[in-house]
Amino acid sequence: MEEKEVVLVTGGSRGIGKEIALKYAKNGYNIVLNYIIDDTDFEGITNEFKQYGAEVLWVKADVSNSEQVDEMVKKAIEKFGKIDVLVNNAGITKDTLLMRMKEEDFDRVININLKGTFLVTKAVIPYMMKQRQGRIISLASVVGVAGNAGQSNYAASKAGIIGFTKSVAKEVASRNIRVNCVAPGFIATDMTSVLSDSVKESINAQIPMKRMGTPEDVANVVYFLGSSDSSYVTGQTIHIDGGMLM
Ligand code: NAP
Repeated sequence: MEEKEVVLVTGGSRGIGKEIALKYAKNGYNIVLNYIIDDTDFEGITNEFKQYGAEVLWVKADVSNSEQVDEMVKKAIEKFGKIDVLVNNAGITKDTLLMRMKEEDFDRVININLKGTFLVTKAVIPYMMKQRQGRIISLASVVGVAGNAGQSNYAASKAGIIGFTKSVAKEVASRNIRVNCVAPGFIATDMTSVLSDSVKESINAQIPMKRMGTPEDVANVVYFLGSSDSSYVTGQTIHIDGGMLM
C-alpha cells in the first residue's frame, strides 16, 4: 500500500481550518490538527475524519509560541514521519479603529497571524527540505490587499503573510517546495458570525456573486494548491471572494 501523505493544519478545530483538513482527509491524507482551546468535539471530529480512513493527531499549541510550535512539529514527525503539506490557518481578529486600538491588541493579532505563520513555517521547512518536497499554503485575506477600516492590525498581519509567502517561495523553490497563500473574502464562520445582519447585507451588496463564501469554497482552493495539479504555481495569492476584489 502506498504511504499516505500528511497535512498539518493550524487552527484546525473549527471553521475554515477544519473544512480544509476534512478535504485532505477525503483525499487520502493523514491529518495533524492544531488547536488552542480545549472546548472542541475532539472525538466527533476524529470519527468524521476516520470515515475516510484518515489517522488524526491532535496537538495543542499556541502558534505564537516558538517552543510550543517546535514541540508540535516534533510530535507530528514522531507520529507520521513527515509533513507533506502545511496549512497556516490559525488566525484571530481584534477589530477597532486605530485611534482606539490598544498596543496589546495590535501585538496579539500580529503575533498569532503573522509571527505564527513564520514560526510554524520555519519549524516545518527543514523536514520538507530533507524530504526534497513540500507545499505550504497560508491564509491571507482580501483585507490584507485592500485594507479595511477597523482592521489595521488584521490587515497588516495578512499583508505581511503575502510578502512572507513570496519571499519564502523564492528561497525554497529550487528545493521543490511551493509556497502560496489564499485571500478569502467574507466566509461564513465563527469569525464573521459576530457581524450584524445589516453589516452582512451591506457586505453581500459589494460582492458580485451576491453571497458570502463557505469554508468549502476556501478548502477546495487550498487543496488545489497542495496538490500536483498546481505543480508550477508558487509565490501566488489566490483570491476566493466571489469577485469582491478584482
Ligand atoms: P475561526 O472560526 O475563528 O477559527 C480560528 C481557528 O484558529 C480556530 O481553530 C482556533 O483554535 C485557531 N486559533 C486561534 N488562535 C490560535 C493560536 N494562538 N494558536 C493556534 N490556533 C489558534 O476562524 P476562520 O474564519 O475559520 O478563519 C481561519 C483563517 O482564515 C484565519 O487565518 C482567518 O484570518 C482567515 N480568513 C477568514 C475569513 C472569514 O471571513 N472567515 C476571511 C479571510 C481570511 P481554537 O478553536 O482552539 O480557538
